[in-house]
Amino acid sequence: MTTTHPNALRKIVIVGGGSAGWISAAMLSHYFQNGGCAVELIESEEIGTIGVGESTIPPFLQLLASLGVDEREFIQATQASFKLGIRFEDWKQKGQRYYHPFGAIGGPIGPHEFYQCWLRAKANGHPSNLQDFAPGTVMADQWKFIPPIKAQRTLIAGASYALHVDARLVAKFLRDYAEARGVKRTEGIVTDVVTHPDGSVAKVIMKDGREVEGDLFIDCTGFRSLLIGKTLDVPFNDWSDMLLCDRAVVVQTENVGAPHPYTVSKAEDAGWRWRIPLQHRAGNGYVFSSRHLSDDAARATLVQNVEGQMLMNPMFIAFKTGMRRRLWHKNVVAVGLAGGFIEPLESTALHLIYRGMDFLLRFFPDRDFDPALAAEYNRRMTADYEEIRDFIVLHYCTTQRDDTPFWRDVRNAPIPDSLKERMALFQAQGVLREGVDDMFRNPSWQSVMEGMGVRPRRYQQLVDTAPYDVIAQTLDQSAPILAAQVAGLPSHGEFLEKHCPAP
Ligand code: FAD
Repeated sequence: MTTTHPNALRKIVIVGGGSAGWISAAMLSHYFQNGGCAVELIESEEIGTIGVGESTIPPFLQLLASLGVDEREFIQATQASFKLGIRFEDWKQKGQRYYHPFGAIGGPIGPHEFYQCWLRAKANGHPSNLQDFAPGTVMADQWKFIPPIKAQRTLIAGASYALHVDARLVAKFLRDYAEARGVKRTEGIVTDVVTHPDGSVAKVIMKDGREVEGDLFIDCTGFRSLLIGKTLDVPFNDWSDMLLCDRAVVVQTENVGAPHPYTVSKAEDAGWRWRIPLQHRAGNGYVFSSRHLSDDAARATLVQNVEGQMLMNPMFIAFKTGMRRRLWHKNVVAVGLAGGFIEPLESTALHLIYRGMDFLLRFFPDRDFDPALAAEYNRRMTADYEEIRDFIVLHYCTTQRDDTPFWRDVRNAPIPDSLKERMALFQAQGVLREGVDDMFRNPSWQSVMEGMGVRPRRYQQLVDTAPYDVIAQTLDQSAPILAAQVAGLPSHGEFLEKHCPAP
């Protein structure tokens, strides 16, 4: 005889159907497609979704794999393009640019980390650039692409990639996926929330009077933060003193030419501008500080600089940087913008949705809602948000720009202690604090530090145990080999056309 859990959740209610709502629904439906717990998602076409969120990082592909979704089918359905990293322009100084690629930079030389060997070579006057050894950067810069798995015996194998996606098509794809696995979708606006005497949520009430009860509620209501914010009143940790941007203007345009396999992030007078090319159009936006720039001026800068015909009127989005002090409180878990937001400079928000649900599944509660589960969940998620905040602040606090009031204020903005400690460790000997659950690995920190002109004072003494001629020879040979291997690849546009053509 089999047993069933005595206190199992019977019903999960997701309020909100943007990327957060439908990623949550898809992940839950994967578990509960054969029953065990009902899942209902409420969304309102009248309110709509934010409609941005189109650049991802490599774990997005893990999300697809965990759902059993075929990558090529997904790319075709969402008109996605490949992303090998981000090209940062004008961040350190005007006219300068660098890449933050996904994947490895070089490979270990004997027992030594590549970066330490490269630092030693630089100390000996070696002329190479760090990114000469990053397959992601070399491919991106030449607009080439091949999945690294198909280049196993080459230096390209160390690269990694993510996708640029159409947010609306992703939500549609995941909605079809979740509904096919039993998620019930309810259209309408939630106007009231009823709580139990202990303060946990009992049910939500819709504008037309319908009531939806549940054991666990997932708040995916975007910046409205209906459950975790408005109902449970969980305080907000405000980080807008460290990151000054608080507004964005966005527009979609026609594509001009083939899509490049990277996101562009160009620093502007009062923030930065992105360009994300998909197969069928491009997404563009200017993230700026409203204290330093008017809406009219921001829109003018965006419109003057986009390539191709605009497909909509530019749209403004206000945001506040920070996160709820607890993302899981009582029987409510906030996922997506309802829980917090950090400007999209490293395209991390969709990933935080996946993380939020992945951790929820790891610490999945029953109806007792043991507070230990929520405590661990909150600790892990807060660590993720803080790591991203620190990584984004790094891009700003290392700038040498002082040509506008915005950049001068950026240089005086507070830096979190956790980042100061990380930078001190790095500057001492090029060492980084890397935890098992960290989102950004050493090559990411090394790329941004080097791109922004921060190099450790010295390399680690241990590297001197390797013969220098072996290090020099490895560097001398591997960069031209990598460049030649990449030169022989199809262009990104050709690869998409051949392997993932639009249906
Ligand atoms: P929303 O899309 O706002 O969805 C909220 C849902 O809740 C909607 O379905 C709405 O109808 C529903 N709702 C709200 N209130 C009610 C109610 N009372 N009753 C019923 N339904 C309700 N992320 C990335 O990963 N990469 C990027 O490149 C990126 N770029 C961004 C650029 C900008 C300018 C901004 C602001 C964000 C960006 N993001 C990016 C973040 C990304 O857009 C979001 O994380 C993602 O779209 C998830 O949004 P959401 O589902 O939480 O909220």
